[in-house]
Amino acid sequence: MVVAWHRPTKAVIHKKAITENVANEVARLPQGKELFAVVKANGYGHGAVETAEAAVAGGASGFCVSNLDEGVELREAGFTQPILILNMVPYDALALAVAHDLSVTAGTREWLQAAAAILEESKLEMPLSIHLKADTGMGRIGFCTPEEVKEAAAFIRESRVLEWEGLFTHFSTADQSDDTYWNLQKERFMEVLKKLSELPRYVHVSNSATALWHDETIGNMIRYGVAMYGLNPSGHALPEVYPLQPALELVSELIQVKKLPAGEGIGYGETYITPEAEWIGTIPIGYADGWLRKMQGFSLLVEGNYCETIGRVCMDQLMIRLPQEFPVGTKVTLIGKNADKEITMQDVADQLGTIHYEVACGLGQRIPREYQ
Ligand code: PLP
Repeated sequence: MVVAWHRPTKAVIHKKAITENVANEVARLPQGKELFAVVKANGYGHGAVETAEAAVAGGASGFCVSNLDEGVELREAGFTQPILILNMVPYDALALAVAHDLSVTAGTREWLQAAAAILEESKLEMPLSIHLKADTGMGRIGFCTPEEVKEAAAFIRESRVLEWEGLFTHFSTADQSDDTYWNLQKERFMEVLKKLSELPRYVHVSNSATALWHDETIGNMIRYGVAMYGLNPSGHALPEVYPLQPALELVSELIQVKKLPAGEGIGYGETYITPEAEWIGTIPIGYADGWLRKMQGFSLLVEGNYCETIGRVCMDQLMIRLPQEFPVGTKVTLIGKNADKEITMQDVADQLGTIHYEVACGLGQRIPREYQ
């Protein structure tokens, strides 16, 4: 994968914003409760290693990733903190998990038994650390009943090659104002806890939304993801508990500026025809960067002016209507502040009819990330 260093489009990541978002959350946690930074999917598009560094500076004591390779990336970057893979790893990757001291999620008896059998046959010295996942209503991975969790815990206790390090669940509606289903999931998790005679080192149930809006929650660790990047997990639904500072700006420059007469078609399919003589600016970003064709009609910022994207977004370029002539090289803000105006990741998500998580994760790998 090539990163396009030699064009003026870039994502600027403010590490200080991540550090402060984490520090603000850590300050709210009760004594002894830890924050693991969720840096999966390349730190939600912000860069896993740099985000992890910023999170540690804010008080994070561990990390969550979604797969083995993301965990290895952090270990190779030198992080020694606990790292939890929030998924079951393929059997042929178990040795790598042990070698890199990565904790792994178990959600079925079959996986647990097969993993133990494979590790028994290997000559590995360290046990594999396991977090048992209880499915309390997400319907994704996880043990479905308290009895199954209890059985799995007993199996691990008997095993030479496994170590029980954690127990967790995941809420599906923590970002909504109606907490009926959240309470049902919580009750189900409490039933799991009641069944167990002892608990592992980590018990954790909170994503960002649960941590922010469900203070009464259980456990001694939180898995803090989207809020760390300065994004309100609920979108517009719930007010921020403290101001979250967006960490990512997406900027580019005008690479060509021209005045076209009335009646000229702009972009593929001639979907926009200049109604009068207009100044048109071209910007080097397109759907191959994750800036999708649905962004047609969305306004970008140039010198504090909202400038509409006209015509279809191309693979590598798009065009905007300028209120006047601006020099080539003038900064264009796609996400972030420009003069006294701002475009948020949420604005982009609203345009696309999606959530900001998807926007952040969808920003293409060829966009360079610059860290400040
Ligand atoms: N925990 C689990 C199991 C997740 O899958 C995720 C994200 O998808 C998180 C925590 C972090 O969630 P958020 O980014 O909403 O804080």
